[in-house]
Amino acid sequence: MKAAAKLSLVESVERQLTDIDRVMVELDHFKKQTERLDLMNRLHARVAGVLNLSGMIEAYSVWLMPLVEHELIGYSNGLRKKRHLFCSGHGPNRRRAIAFAEQLIETKDDCEGIYEDDHGHYAHKWLIERADDAGILLILKNGKKLSEEQIDLINESLTILTDSLQRALDYEDLFERASNDALTGLANRRGFEERIHGMVNSAKRYKNPLTMLSMDLDKFKDINDNLGHLAGDEVLKAVAEKLQNAVRSSDLLVRMGGDEFILVLDNTDKFSGRILAERLCKAVDKLDIWADVKTKLGISIGLAQLEEDESLMEWLDRTDDILYHAKAEGRSRVAVR
Ligand code: GH3
Ligand code: MG
Repeated sequence: MKAAAKLSLVESVERQLTDIDRVMVELDHFKKQTERLDLMNRLHARVAGVLNLSGMIEAYSVWLMPLVEHELIGYSNGLRKKRHLFCSGHGPNRRRAIAFAEQLIETKDDCEGIYEDDHGHYAHKWLIERADDAGILLILKNGKKLSEEQIDLINESLTILTDSLQRALDYEDLFERASNDALTGLANRRGFEERIHGMVNSAKRYKNPLTMLSMDLDKFKDINDNLGHLAGDEVLKAVAEKLQNAVRSSDLLVRMGGDEFILVLDNTDKFSGRILAERLCKAVDKLDIWADVKTKLGISIGLAQLEEDESLMEWLDRTDDILYHAKAEGRSRVAVR
């Protein structure tokens, strides 16, 4: 073979090789894109039906764990007063991770980036912002920073997570608005319905005492008539705040409507309930609100402990009857039967 012909054969083989290389690179690229799409589809599927913040963060953590090992994922939204920290660890590790996450959320510095604590924990912080909303997403790792590739993956996943998160937060807000009284922020009748059955069932199953206080303000109509409806609203808010400050988060405090409130004291018998009820009476008296020179605002309370064979309706009626006695016996007092 002549030298020139030999050269062109080598050139053509080399060209074919570079063509194959290029095709291989493209194929590899397509494969990676398809894998990414598949991953993102799996994230979509995981978060699609979730309608609350805690479920959303937990679903995201489950999706992310095989791709990025982490010990905590947290989300906090100051505007909406919503926060959920999901930690896979236990005991002291869990407490340390949560303390580190809370410290980062509380810091005024709103910078995205990497943070490290004294124990070799790294936290990566993202700001998830929308026009009218902003939240912080934290991912904590023990011992190692996230790689560039992992950060890319998380950045891509955040476009999916952000939409789903906002949807879950909107849903939670709507749900809370429907179950809470707009004036006082306490649970309303619907909120009562949502929780009371679980409380009654669990008290009966574990034989724990459950005590209900049925409360109604005294001479509240006079406040409205003499000081105006707006002043009446302010009084309702002030009373609700007093009551709220006196109860535990496991108790159920409800504005049933008008000037009527119900308080269900978890794991409390009528004797301890009475002590609290007397305190509530005094607290309302101390508000020192007068409808006129002779008429001071008070609260009357009927108190009853759930009996073993009593239904919810029977218990509610019995407590309401006892309240009637507190009113009949002179108001601003606690009646127990
Ligand atoms: P009693 O001592 O017997 O309980 O008499 P009362 O004057 O407190 O009257 P009652 O409990 O029967 O009525 C409560 C009043 O509360 C009637 C209603 O006009 C008023 N009210 C109900 N809802 C609201 C509200 O949202 N804001 C205001 N300002 N008043 C309300
Ligand atoms: Mg009243």
